Amino acid sequence: MPKFFIKTYGCQMNERDSEQVAHSLVSRGYERVEREADADVVLLNTCSVRDMADQKALGKMGMLGGIAKERPQVVFGFLGCMAQARGASLLRNLPHLDIVVGTQKFHRVADYVEEAIEKKRHRGMDDPRFSIVDVGEEIGSQSTIREQQLALKQATAFVSIMQGCNMRCTFCIVPQTRGSERSRSIDEIVGEIRDLVSCGVQEITLLGQIVNLYGRHEFPKIDNKSPFVQLLETVHEIDGLERLRFTSPHPIGFRDDLINAFARLPKLVEHVHLPLQSGSNRILKAMHRTYTVEKYVDLVQRIRNARQGIAITTDIIVGFPGETESDYKETRDLVEHLQFDNAFVFRYSPRRATPAAEMSEQVGEDVKEKRNRDLLEVVNESAHRANERLIGREVEILCEGPSKTNSERLMGRTRTNKIVIFEGGDEFVGELLDVRIDRATGFSLHGTPLTQSETPATIAA
Ligand code: SF4
Repeated sequence: MPKFFIKTYGCQMNERDSEQVAHSLVSRGYERVEREADADVVLLNTCSVRDMADQKALGKMGMLGGIAKERPQVVFGFLGCMAQARGASLLRNLPHLDIVVGTQKFHRVADYVEEAIEKKRHRGMDDPRFSIVDVGEEIGSQSTIREQQLALKQATAFVSIMQGCNMRCTFCIVPQTRGSERSRSIDEIVGEIRDLVSCGVQEITLLGQIVNLYGRHEFPKIDNKSPFVQLLETVHEIDGLERLRFTSPHPIGFRDDLINAFARLPKLVEHVHLPLQSGSNRILKAMHRTYTVEKYVDLVQRIRNARQGIAITTDIIVGFPGETESDYKETRDLVEHLQFDNAFVFRYSPRRATPAAEMSEQVGEDVKEKRNRDLLEVVNESAHRANERLIGREVEILCEGPSKTNSERLMGRTRTNKIVIFEGGDEFVGELLDVRIDRATGFSLHGTPLTQSETPATIAA
């Protein structure tokens, strides 16, 4: 059977979509390989959030033209967000590209791959080029991301609960690439999670572009609880599930029912990723973020009050059009004040057909770079301080497997989503265990597993 290679750019939702595609190919007998040079089918699942992600995927596909010249039978495809945004225009400069499939059609990829393989197999030297482009909308497509290939002893898994976003932040291309909000039913999601747990998964991350607004168009509030909180409660009941995460919420819609869920549902871990984007009300308004700095600060405080030791991480954009030194200083001061456990800092990148790209007062790249470096220093200091507070303490981790930076060691995640590196054998993989934190380096913690004779005094970390 043919071999396939799939490379994913971008966010966890893209990773999850790729796993769905991998599952559909493996279930038809295809073999997954780790190098494009070994593959008969090469798929790039793309991201459009920043220009750099677009360029990386385009550059990679261009380079793959070398393989196409040596082995013209190989099938090449672009999937996902950039495929959705650019459609058939991608075929223009990439003569070896065969397939372009958008974000609502991942479940059709295996069919299209088979069609392309067949066509290439029977194509004569003089036959005109063929291609398959499918970037249409499809009703119910949010329910098609529901299967995945689990690795041996896989302890964590992502579950896609909704697709799309209606928020229209002025810098963001996602509403165009992912469409409007569409949610799966609670029964469907719970069924998928039960299956994962029965295969040994202990930690689930619920995924959505705007995850806490899950179901707001489809399902009613019950007892003043949003559909998202109803979902959390139902998933929480699943026997064998130990940890529950979600990403990414919007500060709008993070209401009391969700904050209370952190106080009531112990499987909900002590971590919230809460995108801030800017610490200036003027810029938040221009971004169409629909909350104020004061509301965000109050929300962080209420989340911290609801669960002791909860970690809060965030996303921040520097150099948004019109951002003055004083706006930037407000962001810097707020980041210092809130002491995030970590933050992703992005330089603003104009995206085609978004309102912000058309705004006057675009900020120069040198200024963006300077603010980016400066803010990263502030973030790194608070992240380091948060890690150092854990030295000498005992924490629960879920071991995910070998460390990505040193395969001789293992890595696990605390409930607060911090990575811990430790020495140990295969018996730890896929298991919850207690470790003592010995030291902190960069963004990682290093620990030692507690022996059974040591009494674990596990804290939320
Ligand atoms: S909430 Fe805003 S930033 Fe997030 S996906 Fe929707 S439009 Fe984009």
